[in-house]
Amino acid sequence: MTDREEGFHYRDGDLYCEDVHIGDLCAKHGTPLYVYSHAALTGQYTALAEAFEGSDPAICYSVKSNSNIAVVRSLARLGAGADIVSGGEMHRALKAGVPPEMLVYAGVGKTDREIGDALAAGILLFNIESVPEAYAIDRVARGMGVTAPVALRVNPDVDAQTHRHTTTGKKGTKFGVDIDRAVSVYKELNELPNLDLCGVHVHLGSPVTTLSAYEVALDRVAALVRSLRDVGIASVRMLNVGGGLGIAYRDETPIDVGEYAACLRRHADDLNCRLILEPGRFISGASGIMCTQVVYRKEAGHKTFIIVDGAMNDLIRPALYDGYHAIRPVVGAGRDTETVDVVGPVCESGDFLAKDRDMERAEQGDVLAVFSAGAYGFVMSSNYNSRPRAAEVLVMGAAASVVRERETVEDLTRGESIPPALLGDG
Ligand SMILES: *Cc1c(COP(=O)(O)O)cnc(C)c1O
Repeated sequence: MTDREEGFHYRDGDLYCEDVHIGDLCAKHGTPLYVYSHAALTGQYTALAEAFEGSDPAICYSVKSNSNIAVVRSLARLGAGADIVSGGEMHRALKAGVPPEMLVYAGVGKTDREIGDALAAGILLFNIESVPEAYAIDRVARGMGVTAPVALRVNPDVDAQTHRHTTTGKKGTKFGVDIDRAVSVYKELNELPNLDLCGVHVHLGSPVTTLSAYEVALDRVAALVRSLRDVGIASVRMLNVGGGLGIAYRDETPIDVGEYAACLRRHADDLNCRLILEPGRFISGASGIMCTQVVYRKEAGHKTFIIVDGAMNDLIRPALYDGYHAIRPVVGAGRDTETVDVVGPVCESGDFLAKDRDMERAEQGDVLAVFSAGAYGFVMSSNYNSRPRAAEVLVMGAAASVVRERETVEDLTRGESIPPALLGDG
């Protein structure tokens, strides 16, 4: 791992985000600290957009991967839409300036209220995950006197070879409707007067690193669209191919964006459909790091533990998905290596950032960069162990802006209270 993260690079052993010295930044704002590169975020978005030049896809950034409004805003300014999964994410996307007609709304448990708010906003599309949800959307839309644009999420039964917690395109997951049942479900939903069955949605899971998974899934989806047209359901005009494009956390070879685009365009053109993309990790993943300081070195038995101030509550991917993140010092890199576990202070043995990792020697007080933490990093953080959540900084050139303040201990108890009966001595 050297400087493959666009936006992050070493100069004379010190890490920079664009023109900002990360060591200085951490001295100023403290740790743990998330740092995002605007150039990397927009560079990834632009690479994807350029691969689709000449067609007119809706590139709807998956807000759940990194929902900071400054991040979403950076992409919205370039024309990105947003893929949202809750009323909260819709609020963020609108606040960041994403036009409502560029919003696609997914999620298996949309409530009437969320549906109503999205209809009132005028979103591009609902990704429907089940038949009961379709009935709910139809009912809410009828009550409002509108028609709801919907795409049925189909499960193409393709194993994208992702972690079991993030695979979604195989039979037996809670997502979507089995593709063998899809024609009959479309027929049933076609009877609902306030639905416009304008699309098909498919999302295979994440991260996907083989193009063949998309090929196979899209062949199946194309066959479905043709069957629908054969039975007189001609309204499908959008092909939502979801997200899932992988990045190189370690030594994976990501899918080539040009080949990905060619594959998608071929299928969409054949069907005369508009493409919708929902990239998350591809845009935000390598665009962010988490900085964390070494609190102690601890030798126990034959192991060395590097105990840092960033924990599973700050970055849960290693504990939850066996996620690998490269870790290097932010100043004075290029040292001899040793084999260590990098662990946090939370009272769980699952609280680790790296296990049996060969990495540069880290001393007490050193600050380490945990790379490729821009996606599913801060957004999955919690207050477990009553740890205030980290601050987030967005770098643009030589300017660094705090885009989310570090929480304080007062924030931790906000909204809590002690009932009067418990006040005073027992
Ligand atoms: C999570 C998710 C995405 C984004 O996935 P990435 O791997 O971050 O690209 C897109 N679409 C749906 C439906 C999702 O659930």
